[in-house]
Amino acid sequence: MNAPAPTTEPILSIENLTVNFDGFKALNNLTFSMEPGELRVVIGPNGAGKTTFLDSITGKVRPTQGDLFFKGRSLKGLAEYEISRLGIGRKFQTPRVYQNLTVRQNLDLSGNQRKGVMHTLFRKPLRVERQSIDQLLEIVGLMPKAHLPAALLSHGEKQRLEIGMLVAQSPDLLLVDEPAAGLTDEETYQLGELLISLAEAHSIIVIEHDMEFVRQIARKVTVLHEGSLLCEGTMDEVQNDDRVIEVYLGKGEGDEH
Ligand code: ADP
Ligand code: MG
Repeated sequence: MNAPAPTTEPILSIENLTVNFDGFKALNNLTFSMEPGELRVVIGPNGAGKTTFLDSITGKVRPTQGDLFFKGRSLKGLAEYEISRLGIGRKFQTPRVYQNLTVRQNLDLSGNQRKGVMHTLFRKPLRVERQSIDQLLEIVGLMPKAHLPAALLSHGEKQRLEIGMLVAQSPDLLLVDEPAAGLTDEETYQLGELLISLAEAHSIIVIEHDMEFVRQIARKVTVLHEGSLLCEGTMDEVQNDDRVIEVYLGKGEGDEH
């Protein structure tokens, strides 16, 4: 197959998005855009709107104003399952794997779910070629544990398995919420390398607090503050931005979910 013509269409584009919870604007006129293949890290102090940002992409919360476009298509009014079928996968903070199935079975099951949906609904080949389970096991570094029940994996291994399960569904956009929480330094590093290796073939948004982890994986960083975009740039640019320093010093950098 020939390479597709170059395109400048963003994979995700958000225009003037406001989410109002009983008069409180968790997102306030937010505008955001990312290119296909980007690995984007979103940071911001507690209450900045990071979780609401992901919730509005997946359709869990509804915009009060503004709109979101995935590959140019408006997500307005779509149900969560419809958005998921379009190719947006979300990794939650707590691993959701089938504990008593083996690692391989977990991956196999996830791959087949999307396959059925894709083939029956869209009847066209997947844009990203389906990877075999073996390749996926290699990518997530779990080949030696393929035959073990998921219950026997460490927390970090379960996180990697769940990312593999998402990838098995061939999403174009992967949303990952605070993946380093609760991981050891070594596990955090491995997870970072995994996300880096998945970028380009996938577009990925990572919400993260662990600044060392952010430094490991970040290309472009988006800083949210009070529901709006405060600044964007490289890790160095963002860290040296006076507005960023002020909001972090002003509010602290505590953990939250
Ligand atoms: P973050 O993930 O950056 O810490 P959130 O998106 O969770 O921020 O929340 C942003 C703000 O919106 C917070 O002040 C939070 O209290 C508020 N908020 C979030 N969800 C709701 C809700 N369902 N109802 C009312 N307020 C909410
Ligand atoms: Mg949050």
